[in-house]
Amino acid sequence: DVTVLRLGHRPGRDERMTTHVGLTARALGADRVVMAGSARNQTDTVVDITDRFGGPFAVETTDEPKRFIREFDGAVVHLTMYGEPIQDVIEDVRADREAGPLLVVVGAEKVPFEVYEHAEYNVGVTNQPHSEVASLAVFLDRLFEGQELDREWEDPDRVVVPKETGKKVVEPGDGDED
Ligand code: SAM
Repeated sequence: DVTVLRLGHRPGRDERMTTHVGLTARALGADRVVMAGSARNQTDTVVDITDRFGGPFAVETTDEPKRFIREFDGAVVHLTMYGEPIQDVIEDVRADREAGPLLVVVGAEKVPFEVYEHAEYNVGVTNQPHSEVASLAVFLDRLFEGQELDREWEDPDRVVVPKETGKKVVEPGDGDED
């Protein structure tokens, strides 16, 4: 069970990034996103996409992210450009995930030092500054070793039929899925 925690973002600047953290968490195999602080009112799009394209995927909020991290019953991974290279630690993280729940924390602005201290793993996807969405995507793909790409979705209203050219979206049950 993998949870992604989005720490509070900068209002007026990070709304789409927060939404994209949620959508990326869902699409690439996490079970739940928890949005904290000022990111809390950014849940609608992710809930809407889950309703339309399927789940299961939970969208939750917290106003006490530090407590959420402290009390999380499993290993905590904090994605940060200052952390250990992902390629050096991912096998240990994978073993922890197989043993129990995993929490993946991504920031927006400066992340409080307690988060670095509390995390079992501070993980860098390169040690270059880039984006929480990019680091989350690479992290999840490495964690699941690509298996998340074949995931099946439950109860979708819409299913995309992959095509070499053009767009095809069907409603399940209309006999046109393949
Ligand atoms: N400067 C901020 C700090 O000191 O914590 C980070 C800002 S960065 C735009 C926002 C988030 O992207 C970070 O909190 C981290 O989760 C993620 N991030 C950015 N670059 C990363 C990298 N190379 N590896 C892992 N995560 C990264």
